[in-house]
Amino acid sequence: MAGIYIHIPFCRQKCFYCDFYKTLDTSLTGNFFSILKVEAVQRKNYLFNEPIDTIYFGGGTPSVLNKYELLQIMAFLHKEFSVLPDAEITFEANPDDLNYSYLKNLYYAGINRLSIGIQSFQNEHLKIMNRRHNVNQAIVSVENAVKAGFENISVDLIYGLPNLTARQWQSNLNQVFNLPVQHLSAYHLTYHRGTTFYDRLKKGTLKELVEKESIKQFKLLIEIASDLGFEQYEISNFAKNKMYSKHNMSYWQGNKYLGLGPSAHSFNGVSRQWNVANLEGYLNAIENNSTYFEEEILTENEKYNEYILTRIRTKWGVSINFIEKEFGTEKVTHFIKNIEKYEKSEFVIRQNRIFTLSPDGLFISDEIMANLMII
Ligand code: SF4
Repeated sequence: MAGIYIHIPFCRQKCFYCDFYKTLDTSLTGNFFSILKVEAVQRKNYLFNEPIDTIYFGGGTPSVLNKYELLQIMAFLHKEFSVLPDAEITFEANPDDLNYSYLKNLYYAGINRLSIGIQSFQNEHLKIMNRRHNVNQAIVSVENAVKAGFENISVDLIYGLPNLTARQWQSNLNQVFNLPVQHLSAYHLTYHRGTTFYDRLKKGTLKELVEKESIKQFKLLIEIASDLGFEQYEISNFAKNKMYSKHNMSYWQGNKYLGLGPSAHSFNGVSRQWNVANLEGYLNAIENNSTYFEEEILTENEKYNEYILTRIRTKWGVSINFIEKEFGTEKVTHFIKNIEKYEKSEFVIRQNRIFTLSPDGLFISDEIMANLMII
């Protein structure tokens, strides 16, 4: 099984925290869709003809697509790849784009999972982040999605924002879990270089939340999600009734995926490729038959590191049997030697030959991962 990720690089407005590749210039939209198809045809062998069980439209803002563009892309993907009938097809969207008729179009085009970028249920924070929508639009977008027939809805929230209080975060969580959603992705704010937030932080016009508050908010997230029946199956991801994101799980399980569009990443077990993060550069390179991605052939150590980094974050954890089978006994020795102290101090739980992070270990996951890797 393999996945396809499609990066739609257009946004109507730039959010101040966001470092994903995007452009506000939509004049190249038509050209982009034609070239995207050329790229897909050129690179389809990268997946060794494996059937496609997940497709993910991310960005940027996929909800800038109109229904004709979407129908065309979907028909094209079904023609070029063997997309399984029950494939999970996720579409990222901004709440203010999700009116009932647009959602109906998505549904009829074959989208069966929505990922809605709500980010906050506080208008003051939506403004600080320069989001386009308000709280009311966020709530209505989920209601519309249900009316349009969607039964698999995920919402994104951000915590650790400047001035976000524990009380406000608790209220955000209560709001989201009161909505008919099956999945939550909740991320702590990161100040990425090149974003407005980063510049403001450096100038001192924005104040980072103190670490104690961030930890409090992460604890609240875990507690409230668990009380309301949402299972934490990865550090930042929570699902009801096992409605995990199949697409993200395929990343964590080391499955193959092909990323199309500027800045998209691909992986097929042998190599990792990443497309140029520039729309014009991407279009010109494909039109002129020149290279538009960089490639790295993974060494055994890098494959081992990938496995550790992705699996330790999940509830399925790291398997000694897998390390032994895939990477040999030397790597098992390295892993055991470096995980022992975390097991003794109960940051890691061992069940037979599987290691997972304990609730306390979740808070120091970066340190644990860094120690397990082979540099
Ligand atoms: S967060 Fe989404 S909508 Fe906002 S700028 Fe980034 S890609 Fe665009």
